[in-house]
Amino acid sequence: MKRIGILGGMSPESTIIYYRALNEGARAALGPLDTADCLIASVNFGAIQAMQKAGEWERAGLHLAEAAEGLEAAGAELIILATNTMHRCAPAIEAAVTIPFLHIADATAAHLKRDGRKAPLLLGTAYTMEQDFYKGRLIEEHGLDIITPDDTERARIHAIIFDELVNGIATDESRNAYLDIVARHADAGADSVILGCTEIGMLLSSANSPLPVYDTALIHCAVALEKALA
Ligand code: GLU
Repeated sequence: MKRIGILGGMSPESTIIYYRALNEGARAALGPLDTADCLIASVNFGAIQAMQKAGEWERAGLHLAEAAEGLEAAGAELIILATNTMHRCAPAIEAAVTIPFLHIADATAAHLKRDGRKAPLLLGTAYTMEQDFYKGRLIEEHGLDIITPDDTERARIHAIIFDELVNGIATDESRNAYLDIVARHADAGADSVILGCTEIGMLLSSANSPLPVYDTALIHCAVALEKALA
């Protein structure tokens, strides 16, 4: 198995989900005591979040590029960045390493297209729902008709991520708020929902969602494992 480098800590809750999913996947693929060969570079989310707020994406990119170099030097053979939002800095990371970087939006788009989905509702941080690095990539490079929540919904989704989910807090009230938004867009024609923030799986899953769910964290891990085992 190839060694997977995880750029993590954004948030730690997200990295926990990745670590669990990679190891469950390895167990399912290889055997009951097998685990994933992985390294985690866990950055300080407080510093990253301050850079997001200040729009200092270049600075954040340099920081993540340095962490990625460390993973490669430590023997990682492929890299995954365990957050959707920070894929805004994907070009800086890709430029800093010689090993493959598996982009979370490409992994997710492949799963959507495999299932014939055309009009997914995109949930995530405001950066992910509004900026081109993510939404634009899904539309232009993958031909998906991405639907985004309205202004009020986006503000609520973003606040729940940063006030609760990244701190490990999952409440019924927030789950219901997300479910209401998904239900409204299901009625309006969305054919699926992208959990475009790696912590949203703490609230939504195929067990409770009115639309088919594409959890970016779980898809990203599945694709990484596939590559690591190929
Ligand atoms: N993990 C989140 C994401 O997938 C949000 C935290 C961050 O801003 O990186 O976008």
